[in-house]
Amino acid sequence: MAADLPGEFEIIERFFSPLSKGVSGAFGLKDDAAVLDCEAGRDFVVTTDCLVSGVHFLADDPPGSIAHKAFAVNGSDLAAMGAKAKAYTLALALPKGTTEAWLIDFIQGISAFLDRFGAALVGGDTVATEGPLTASVTAIGTVGIGQALTRSAAKPGDAIFVSGTIGDGALGLRAARGGLGDLPAYARAFFVDRYRRPTPRLELGHRLVGFASAAIDISDGLLADLEHICRCSNVEARIDLGHIPLSEPAKALVSGAGVDIDELISGGDDYELLFTAPPEMVGEISDLAEEIGLPISRIGVTQQRGEGQSVGTVIDENGRELTHGEIGYRHF
Ligand code: ADP
Ligand code: MG
Repeated sequence: MAADLPGEFEIIERFFSPLSKGVSGAFGLKDDAAVLDCEAGRDFVVTTDCLVSGVHFLADDPPGSIAHKAFAVNGSDLAAMGAKAKAYTLALALPKGTTEAWLIDFIQGISAFLDRFGAALVGGDTVATEGPLTASVTAIGTVGIGQALTRSAAKPGDAIFVSGTIGDGALGLRAARGGLGDLPAYARAFFVDRYRRPTPRLELGHRLVGFASAAIDISDGLLADLEHICRCSNVEARIDLGHIPLSEPAKALVSGAGVDIDELISGGDDYELLFTAPPEMVGEISDLAEEIGLPISRIGVTQQRGEGQSVGTVIDENGRELTHGEIGYRHF
């Protein structure tokens, strides 16, 4: 364990144990593993995302934001499956020299996340590392048996929807790296916050069960993730670029110099939900958007894959084939 920190057991007891929120099967993080009840009539939905310093966040990002993002990206995967969050675990590798102040801020980020989005931390592991900090979160959720939303059930003629606004996360990464020139301070802060502290659309996700045909969360960029749905469902997609929802600060950049819409639909880190639904559901979906106070935009339609058209094709309103090229992040 890093020199500046208390020992592993004291860290767990002082910092992590309160995050188990008295959930009985978490045993205050004092036993070997957590015990979760299998809820009658529901399936478990389980996902893990590992965040590595320098890859998924910048080493000098605020610790609370790093914690938030580690949990949020996992919550976002649950949302994309139509699941409700039930519990989280965290495997944390801390570089030597991590300070207690750093850890306190990190814990505060988890605590705020759990208070806002529900569920508790029920287990994990804490180790020291010679390498960069990594935070690997596992999220466990539940959904009605057989009702999970997948990427593979879109039908030709389904309407395509997206929640929130697109491109702020990618602009936030550029802004956090000092890019985007003389951006007004409020816009810079807005983009950076969207990059560092994405909102998992958990409320929307589980409400889409029964409405949506296919769903995915946008982590690699709208275009790349829409391609995933198209590939898995064997359809193609036609989107109307004029209907892509943009935040006011993003609109200002697009109408000015330096940023175009293709970049915004290719950039990652939005963590909005992209989903398809039969056209007769449009009314229900706009009612749902109203009810949960989250804008949902209809951006296009899926269609039968054209003769000779490659799998996963996305075209714009003029029939131009959209490709995300090398902009989307690839690990390997
Ligand atoms: P073991 O050696 O039996 O695997 P550990 O000493 O690693 O146990 O962990 C003791 C308890 O503390 C376990 O319940 C584990 O889930 C919990 N724990 C350890 N690190 C974390 C963490 N970062 N977040 C949440 N729980 C943790
Ligand atoms: Mg043990």
